[in-house]
Amino acid sequence: GPELFIPERINSRGFDLTHAPTLDLIEQARTPWATHSWSAVPLLAAAAAPLPPQDVTNPSDLTPVGQVASASESDVATALTAATPWDAPASTRAAVLNKAADLYEEKFGELFALLSREAGKTLPDCVSELREAVDFLRFYASRIPAEAKPAGVFTCISPWNFPLAIFSGQIAAALATGNAVLAKPAEQTPLIAYCCVSLLHQAGVPRSALQLLPGGGAVGAALTSDERVNGVAFTGSTATALKIRASMADALRPGTPLIAETGGLNAMIVDSTALPEQAVQSIVESAFQSAGQRCSALRCLYLQEDIADGVLTMLTGAMQAQNTGNPWLLSTDSGPVIDKTAQDIIASHIAIARAEGRVLKQLQAPEQGSFVAPTLIEIPSIAALKQEIFGPVLHVVRYKAADLDRVIADINATGYGLTFGLHSRIDDRVQYITDRIEAGNIYVNRNQIGAVVGSQPFGGEGLSGTGPKAGGPNYLARFCAPDRQHSSA
Ligand code: GLU
Repeated sequence: GPELFIPERINSRGFDLTHAPTLDLIEQARTPWATHSWSAVPLLAAAAAPLPPQDVTNPSDLTPVGQVASASESDVATALTAATPWDAPASTRAAVLNKAADLYEEKFGELFALLSREAGKTLPDCVSELREAVDFLRFYASRIPAEAKPAGVFTCISPWNFPLAIFSGQIAAALATGNAVLAKPAEQTPLIAYCCVSLLHQAGVPRSALQLLPGGGAVGAALTSDERVNGVAFTGSTATALKIRASMADALRPGTPLIAETGGLNAMIVDSTALPEQAVQSIVESAFQSAGQRCSALRCLYLQEDIADGVLTMLTGAMQAQNTGNPWLLSTDSGPVIDKTAQDIIASHIAIARAEGRVLKQLQAPEQGSFVAPTLIEIPSIAALKQEIFGPVLHVVRYKAADLDRVIADINATGYGLTFGLHSRIDDRVQYITDRIEAGNIYVNRNQIGAVVGSQPFGGEGLSGTGPKAGGPNYLARFCAPDRQHSSA
């Protein structure tokens, strides 16, 4: 029978934001960085010859946060030649990663400022992201498979929505297992990446084992298509993952691992037995925290029609209390979306819904900056959503109890399978639904974001990713040479 899963380690404690002296400490630590200008360049094991620097912009007020010089074609060539797997003993690698985790925690003031100013993160999001980053470092350091041989050279391509946690998590996994890493951060968040790689080097990761290559799609393509690359870890859109898969020229390199964590069209079902207050809190957090810019976020809420009006009244009331604005301010619940491009895509989705008379509620957002106000849109079925809308937009569908099987089928038919939420107080129904929904992470009577490293391995199926799950027991095996791989699920 199934074994009880008991996490073996204690995660980072983070910061208690309800504790006034802790808030003072945070303010003191981040204030010196409130107007700082950072700069990022490629960090290679040999001399770099990067492209001219460009501004990196704060999505909240559109002021510059610093500058980045992207890797040139010759930098990519230099990095590929210099990449050398990290041959230190596993215990040394673990000690270095643990040391890096400590350095991250010491640098919280600068990291929080960067997360707010470069990535638009609210303070609660900064705290949970730093926790997740150090949890990844320490968790992977503690789980290095005995006798594992590294795959060789790993390319890690990470997203802007978790520029600290996912960036560090991929790298930590590849380094823990002794690979050489070529890290390409998202174009929107190179400054945080530069800070992280500097701290990893300071902790003792050799430069030849960890090189940073800021840049766009061309750098990513060069780093995934080269035959000297033995594996790719990617988190981002499903479309980009498919391109990487194609560019990896698998015919030449059979078995080369691609570990992809991609998008989702995540649903929640709230049935007539749910506790409305609890459901509404879960809905608001799942749909609007981080301005909806999590691949785990709730996109489509199914409300059983008997309770739909009541829940919607409470939900729109709870939304009304949400503050969208400058993420640095403690009064802010929801910061900006990442850039103007994202804002335009989301805004046009809302404009279409408005023209069709389907917008139930839209809040106010500042006019300056890349803001989208949390928005509630009614749709007939999740099938009406043709793509993931990566922002604070929640779609709601009313369903009849008799149609539950069709609801489940519609949710599965999206082809994605990342997170799923359920609020119900009937055990049999919980069992029935969770047995049938195809999703990597299922959450019952709580929110559906914020998977905890080591306790809630995170990853989806279908169009949502390849597995194995990040922060879980099988992740590291995928970074090892095939003859040493365990089965990965
Ligand atoms: N692991 C995150 C969560 O559970 C989501 C990761 C992502 O958005 O890529 O909310």
